[in-house]
Amino acid sequence: MDNTFLSPYFQKPLTLGADIVVHSGTKFLGGHNDTLAGFLVTNSLELSEQLRFIIKTVGSGLAPFDSWLILRGIKTLPIRMERAQENAQAIAAFLQGESRVRKVYYPGIPGTQAHEICKRQASGFGSMITFEVESVRLAHHILKSTRLIPFAESLGGVETLLTYPTTQTHADVPVEVQRKNGITDCLLRMSVGIETKEDLIEDLKQAMDSFG
Ligand SMILES: *Cc1c(COP(=O)(O)O)cnc(C)c1O
Repeated sequence: MDNTFLSPYFQKPLTLGADIVVHSGTKFLGGHNDTLAGFLVTNSLELSEQLRFIIKTVGSGLAPFDSWLILRGIKTLPIRMERAQENAQAIAAFLQGESRVRKVYYPGIPGTQAHEICKRQASGFGSMITFEVESVRLAHHILKSTRLIPFAESLGGVETLLTYPTTQTHADVPVEVQRKNGITDCLLRMSVGIETKEDLIEDLKQAMDSFG
């Protein structure tokens, strides 16, 4: 199971029955968008020995400096996750009140299936928000107009980032599959960071308000 979005702070898949948990350490665990790393976690000694053998023989062990960056990042994981989630809740509420935002996907929003699943198996909702705006032109305008929030791939860092799924994260997914899963040209994904939430909301607001 891939636990990258919630991190072990909010969700512990081994206790839910998973055999192997995957984490992109590049994201919340590292937390500062400054290194690449990955983790495989298991509670089976047999599996862990097999995985360790593969990692050792293919030579994909993490370099000392990257290991150090990840260890340093993990020390602040709880406070980063809490703050980013608090910001995400506020931004999701702001987006829900915007007339030109058609849909907001965030598990912290009550009344959704994602909310119920998250409440059952996790201790938080994380800080990944996806939202659909009313036109492709508006989506492109927002990506070009935010001043504080960069338009960049990746997630889970202290900085808030905006991503355009159709040409970035999901570019290799066939268009029919994208559409079936609600991934449209009007969709934006935001990894909410730990900045001051009023500044983030103000930035999104000025980007939307400056659209002709
Ligand atoms: C980024 C990401 C990965 C891949 O991790 P890298 O560190 O970029 O190799 C895997 N799963 C999820 C959910 C991710 O966001």
